[in-house]
Amino acid sequence: MEFSGNVGEKGYALEPRSAVIFLGTGCSNSVPNARCLIQPSDPPCQVCLSSLSLLPDRNPNYRSDTIGLQMNRCNTSLLVDFCGRDGEHHYVLIDVGKTFREQVIRWFTFHKIPRIDSIVLTHEHADAVLGLDDIRAVQPHSPTNDIAPTPIYLTQEAMDSVGMKFPYLVQKKLKEGQEVRRVSQLEWKIIENDCKKPFVASGLELVPLPVMHGEDYICLGFRFGENCKVAYVSDVSRILPTTEHYISESNGQQLDLLILDTLRKEGSHNVHFCLPQSLDAVKRLRPKRALLIGMSHEFDHHKDNEFLREWSTREGIPVQLAHDGLRIPVDL
Ligand SMILES: [Zn+2]
Ligand SMILES: [Zn+2]
Repeated sequence: MEFSGNVGEKGYALEPRSAVIFLGTGCSNSVPNARCLIQPSDPPCQVCLSSLSLLPDRNPNYRSDTIGLQMNRCNTSLLVDFCGRDGEHHYVLIDVGKTFREQVIRWFTFHKIPRIDSIVLTHEHADAVLGLDDIRAVQPHSPTNDIAPTPIYLTQEAMDSVGMKFPYLVQKKLKEGQEVRRVSQLEWKIIENDCKKPFVASGLELVPLPVMHGEDYICLGFRFGENCKVAYVSDVSRILPTTEHYISESNGQQLDLLILDTLRKEGSHNVHFCLPQSLDAVKRLRPKRALLIGMSHEFDHHKDNEFLREWSTREGIPVQLAHDGLRIPVDL
């Protein structure tokens, strides 16, 4: 029931295989939770405390696979390192949240990720898009913005909202008298929230998986991989029937890996799955294995993975909490 592909010593960028790399596995607030640290509860929250004791400036093993690091969770984001038929690596980034810069510093360096080739957005909430300004840090430097823009795939609804949040990233031409300022160069590409409308990002075909993220809001997950079938659903409170059919084992398309939202350990939440709903969904969809993401500070990585190991043995489907920096080789 153990997952291979935990963080290794060397990084894997030259390995001739595709992989998914978990750049972030935490909720919108991230972990540690700031309020937990400045107004500690009694007794204090051990999860947040352990991440504090291992903050980068005090932690000589900043990038090592330590207990504290597994409690340190940035906004949900996945990097698909797609090794195409040409043998070249193509880097497809899903979501660019508030913590993107920290994720680059921690994990792009560790896993030797040299650039981003395309970006895919699940939706336009702060924890999925507020790092777009920092995309320029992973683009070639040009004082005049004279570089090839990075394609970014998003729905029209997300585009409308991102245009209001970042007008300077959407603006095509400088107005008269406006100085050139260096900003992320993005090529906006509209996708549909429809399982039947796949699109291709840097050679990788992705199928949009519309799901409810609160009953007033549709968010996208994505299914990708021809050989190893992966579905990524980071923000969900209810899986729509068409999407459920598309990714369930009963459709004859059993997923090799399901990556699924889980915000809290108990109860339910109006806009996210909590553990009971996530495990119910795993039982219905029956993937070969599942990894959970989006966890708040209620989750203790090691303790809760113990519980999940027992659950997995009982139900016959391996399920574990993912952690930031986790790299899983997959044959896409
Ligand atoms: Zn806490
Ligand atoms: Zn959201």
